[in-house]
Amino acid sequence: MPIEIDALLATVPTQLFIGGEWRHSSDGATIDVVDPSTAKTMVAVASGTREDAVAAVSAAESALETWRCAAPRTRSTILRKAFDLMIERREDLALLISAENGKALADARAEVSYAAEFFRWFSEEAVRLHGSLQTAPGGDYKIVVQREPIGVAVLVTPWNYPAAMATRKIAPALAAGCTVVLKPASDTPLTALALAALLREVGVPDGVVNVLPAHRSGSVVGALLAEPAVRKVSFTGSTEVGVKLLHAAADRVLSSSMELGGNAPFLVLEDADIDQAIAGAMVAKMRNGGEACTAANRFYVHESVAAEFGRGFATAMQALRLGPGYDEGIDVGPLVNLAAQDKVQELVDDAVHRGADVLTGGAIPDAEGFYYPPTVLDNVDAGAEMMNEEIFGPVAPIVRFTDLDEAIAAANRTDYGLVSYVYTDDLACGLRVADALESGMVGLNRGIVSDPSAPFGGVKLSGLGREGGHEGMLEYTETKYIATSW
Ligand code: NAD
Repeated sequence: MPIEIDALLATVPTQLFIGGEWRHSSDGATIDVVDPSTAKTMVAVASGTREDAVAAVSAAESALETWRCAAPRTRSTILRKAFDLMIERREDLALLISAENGKALADARAEVSYAAEFFRWFSEEAVRLHGSLQTAPGGDYKIVVQREPIGVAVLVTPWNYPAAMATRKIAPALAAGCTVVLKPASDTPLTALALAALLREVGVPDGVVNVLPAHRSGSVVGALLAEPAVRKVSFTGSTEVGVKLLHAAADRVLSSSMELGGNAPFLVLEDADIDQAIAGAMVAKMRNGGEACTAANRFYVHESVAAEFGRGFATAMQALRLGPGYDEGIDVGPLVNLAAQDKVQELVDDAVHRGADVLTGGAIPDAEGFYYPPTVLDNVDAGAEMMNEEIFGPVAPIVRFTDLDEAIAAANRTDYGLVSYVYTDDLACGLRVADALESGMVGLNRGIVSDPSAPFGGVKLSGLGREGGHEGMLEYTETKYIATSW
């Protein structure tokens, strides 16, 4: 591990952040944070308990009245300062993300910029929480509609974007006037704690943001959601856990936003510009080393261009340098942990067993750390497990097609519906295909859709609600209607 990471780790908080104070866990428990590039423990972080959960909600509740009544411009100014300071600290935050998540520095730097952008976007949205006024149809009174902050929000985030998944929730919640308790993923709690320190520095009042890493996530999140002051849960993670949280939320009729798993199809039509499609595939597959909910998971390529596409894609994948994420010049870091590495290999073995051709990659290298090489498989069987499951690694399965309607039907044959990608030179055809695809987002001749100013989210088992855009802030509000006349 580079010496600058050791120095950095010495400055990063490792305790719970509750009510503006750094605290030990009530039972002294800790979580080991492992460097995926070496499989060695770097540092231990306090692991919250149910008692700590109650304390965190209480801190958020105490801070709520003042924060919700603060002038929107005050909230906006603080969020804007958070953007500025994150950009100033980009290098340190990127190193920290690489160290605990494993991703390549280029991906980590891009994540910090993307994550900071949520603070800037929602600093601008904070002063635009519009309502409406209309005369009732009978003409006898007025209908006043206003948006109010929903209250204390519980935020639960995954390990794949330790900064961006947190800011995508914290920024709109704070902009709307809510206070929050964030439960980051146990694999990557350090970035969330560094963000808490940064938010305190820019003037976020005590109790408005609380951060509670917790190894016993089911029990601790259960305790958070059971607290009467909590009115909202916003979750990003697997569909399996999201469904559990929806059950818990139902007991207390909590407003719920769910950003869940994906199984993105990537369609290459026969008239597509193949160089552009390969460049798009590299981004859609390899952003974050394939560990993204938006990662292209299934490539449907027209038979007439499949060989050319597969060859070019495999060549580009083979050229990527695999190694410790925090080393300069590395394109692909390790996967987050051993379980992830094992799962990717099992999916590849299953596809190969069913007749897939390995164009590049396909086997775990002999090295410390949880590495998996960029892999392209051609002629993958429609029944292969990886066609139904999120691969969450640098593996691209190609299925060839001849009939576009059948390819669209195959693309939609999944319980998920987060994002789809289409490459074609015929814009009208591309828009028709985009209409027919069952997903919350479509990249048309683009391998990336994520943007803080656009509504991000899925349909079917990929989730409920949207993050980013104007919608992202509305998720943290309630509508109040006042009937009056004057
Ligand atoms: P995960 O569901 O295992 O964990 C997500 C969070 O939930 C973590 O903080 C974890 O500690 C917590 N958790 C786990 N079990 C829990 C329980 N029983 N009760 C309460 N909380 C619990 O997901 P992950 O492995 O961290 O992340 C990968 C998944 O996240 C993938 O499925 C990916 O598609 C999804 N994801 C979705 C989006 C999106 O925007 N749609 C973005 C990023 C990741």
